[in-house]
Amino acid sequence: MSKEKNFKLLQGEISELQEESFNGLTLKVIRDSSTQRYNEKLGALHRALSYVHHCLPDAFSDLRLPILTVVFGEKVPCQVCWDNTPHGKEVYLFLGDKMMFQYNKSLQDELFSSGEKGPRGVCDQIYDDQKRFIENRALWCCCYSPHEQDYQSPVSAKATAIVVHELGHILHENNDKESFWQNNKIASPKVISADLARQVGSYVIGNNPNEFVAEVFTGLVYGKRYSEGIIKEYEKEGGVLPVWDIRGIILNERGEKR
Ligand SMILES: [Zn+2]
Repeated sequence: MSKEKNFKLLQGEISELQEESFNGLTLKVIRDSSTQRYNEKLGALHRALSYVHHCLPDAFSDLRLPILTVVFGEKVPCQVCWDNTPHGKEVYLFLGDKMMFQYNKSLQDELFSSGEKGPRGVCDQIYDDQKRFIENRALWCCCYSPHEQDYQSPVSAKATAIVVHELGHILHENNDKESFWQNNKIASPKVISADLARQVGSYVIGNNPNEFVAEVFTGLVYGKRYSEGIIKEYEKEGGVLPVWDIRGIILNERGEKR
């Protein structure tokens, strides 16, 4: 998907929603006139930032981004774009309606034909997990003490996971620029092996290794466990390992990686 199409949006009718600071990062949030669901997007953005900051505090402060411009557009794809300006690299995070709020069919949904059809990724798995969790919660005993995350609807859980995925691209670029930009070349024929890709999600199959990194990143933040082969490939491609997941520690008590 082209970066030009996203940047075109900035030349249209846009308005500034707010400017705020989050742990040393200045966020400038702007939106186009047709975006309706900006409050939901704002909620997802705040949750995703706090999850990523919680799980990777060092990698987050290593970002040293002066400003992150977040653009809420109706029809743009969700995508991070880097723009080279005379003052240095500027980072834009575009968040579009379709990718954030569309539900992609699972195998089971195919039978009942609900949802749209797109490649299912880790963010759809987060939707499924949250849906199952809410359905089962009613059966649990009353001494259960909920986390903030437990109150989210599956739709907002997925929207949040989409932002976590995009923040994963930003952290990846910051951690290993060489791998990231090499993989990002349109001509780059590199793809992750089908066997590894299948273990993560269908969005990764046949896709650029940067998508593999962002998907595994999202899974790790949400506490998913992956095989040694996946973690090895993730680190080889320049992915950063979280120190915590959103519910607890990832490293075991001996300080070893899984
Ligand atoms: Zn991506």
